[in-house]
Amino acid sequence: MVRVSNQETLEFQAEARQLLQLMVHSIYSNKDIFLRELISNASDALDKLRLESMRDKDLDVDTSDLHITIDVDTEARTLTVRDNGIGMTRDDVVELIGTIAKSGTAELLRKLKESKETTQDFIGQFGVGFYSTFMVATKVELVTRRAGEAEGTRWASEGEGTYVIETIEDAPQGTAVTVHLKPEDKDDHLFDYTADWKIREIVKKYSDFIAHPIRLSGADEPLNSMKALWARPRSEVEPAEYNEFYKHISHDWTDPLETIHMKGEGVFEYEALLFIPARAPFDLHMRDGKRGVQLYVKRVFIMDDCEALMPSYLRFIKGVVDAHDLSLNISREILQHDRQIQVVRRRLVKKVLSTIKDLQANDAEKYKTVWTEFGRAIKEGFLEDSENQDALLGVLSVASTNDPAELTTLAQYVERMKDGQKDIYYVTGESRSMIENSPHLEAFRAKGYEVLILTDPVDEVWVERVTEFDGKPLQSIAKGQVDLGSPEEAESAKEEFADFLPWITAALADEVKEVRLSSRLTTSPACVVGDEHDMTPTLEKMYRAMGQEVPHTKRILELNPGHPLVKGLREAHAANAENPALTETAELLHGMALLAEGGDLKDPAKFTRLLADRLTAAL
Ligand code: ADP
Repeated sequence: MVRVSNQETLEFQAEARQLLQLMVHSIYSNKDIFLRELISNASDALDKLRLESMRDKDLDVDTSDLHITIDVDTEARTLTVRDNGIGMTRDDVVELIGTIAKSGTAELLRKLKESKETTQDFIGQFGVGFYSTFMVATKVELVTRRAGEAEGTRWASEGEGTYVIETIEDAPQGTAVTVHLKPEDKDDHLFDYTADWKIREIVKKYSDFIAHPIRLSGADEPLNSMKALWARPRSEVEPAEYNEFYKHISHDWTDPLETIHMKGEGVFEYEALLFIPARAPFDLHMRDGKRGVQLYVKRVFIMDDCEALMPSYLRFIKGVVDAHDLSLNISREILQHDRQIQVVRRRLVKKVLSTIKDLQANDAEKYKTVWTEFGRAIKEGFLEDSENQDALLGVLSVASTNDPAELTTLAQYVERMKDGQKDIYYVTGESRSMIENSPHLEAFRAKGYEVLILTDPVDEVWVERVTEFDGKPLQSIAKGQVDLGSPEEAESAKEEFADFLPWITAALADEVKEVRLSSRLTTSPACVVGDEHDMTPTLEKMYRAMGQEVPHTKRILELNPGHPLVKGLREAHAANAENPALTETAELLHGMALLAEGGDLKDPAKFTRLLADRLTAAL
């Protein structure tokens, strides 16, 4: 008799409860995949046990026949998926099954409520594994015992807010999940999951490549071929097989956008099967975001999330690398420094980037998806991976003044460059609308020069690292000197303003490091710019937001010598340099230039007071 103790009825964590509700009332049409998810979990548990037994020699477990069994009871209408893998402790069950630990879940659920996105898209993105059983079940039971532990745990739930958990005395090591099936209902895509043929069909379709035998109880032959997909010749693998494998390793329910299957021969043999997903996981930009490549050694699973094989900026790439010549108990630390792994990583990165480049050339739709979903992550590559800077510039797309609706590649920009234009012009800022109304763009617009508009926070940083593309310098229109006017005009303005500039520079010395004449402006009186290597105000703000101390960079005020206000101020100064209104006007001019670019005034109260005085005087 099984002795039961310590029974409790517990509530699912709020997020878990919400997700369960989505599953219980799911309209997801492909309900078959619940079995794929259970088999996937079982297979992971078998891999984990094998790893654990290699690491921990004292762990007394038998790993000679790791397998998955499927049991059906047609009378009771139950289906059980059993594995003799790692199992779970009681605490594990509460933590892993009773809660959703992924960061950002609450946020995601909130967004889902607000958006019109269908549950189907959402679930696929989230990759809910075990909970998918509630699409087909009235009740789910789980019996498990962690390898090396004496006591087991039984868990049961009807998916409605609570579950029962108890400690049991004799549970076999590993995990058995029993699904009490809802009645068959073809209209609701509920099939008879106790039928032999149905189980065979599902396993063949979704889980054929699983490396452990999946047996139907009572039958000898495994239902799956167990062939590692990556080891098979490309010509013999069906696209659908690649897709199912992707779903198994990624826990995504949507087909991948692109599959990369490669083989490395020679001194260091390896096979790699990589995927570009069709959409970004919701946690792509969260701090604990994981990398998606698994390491195998000669068909044996070694580790998930192998950071030695993929740089962080390509963390969205999922897949498997099977390296033949590594030791089975290699550690993460050793991997990081392994020369051969570094070579493999280099090849994988080059291949991923060239695949994206090919999409750009041959499949505009797919390329667009890659860039929309992952472009922000890829741009981090400029900071992480200087070796591939050219390749990264090649796949980059950015907004531009050329077309408000379409992004442009740098190559396309270069093709459109005007005769005599030497630089690739860009501007960074917080938003497109702010940039489009900033004075810096005026003369570029008047001359018909295209300007790239960079508004991602990461743009601020990478443009500092990249100096040119295709031999053409990248030049910020808000930094350094630009030469857009005629030399004769510049010469005569210089003479005219020779006395005025030193005076106004001194008058605004607390605010700016220099006042000079500009050829950037056509209609505005003034704008503020930075020196070539100065930090932009947006970048300064970003550093401060991250809690980093950065010195405030004084900027340069540029004046439009043709503007009546600037002309008038110069004349007033020439007439009477002691006039107290001059300094106030200079301050107003500087404040206006800051406002025009969407910047912040240092002393808004003073600015408004000066302005109000002037307006009053003008009435
Ligand atoms: P996911 O598989 O995406 O992590 P699941 O909800 O399917 O999400 O499972 C949650 C966790 O529960 C798994 O990560 C694993 O740690 C544990 N788990 C599920 N099934 C098993 C099993 N058969 N054996 C051992 N642990 C399991």
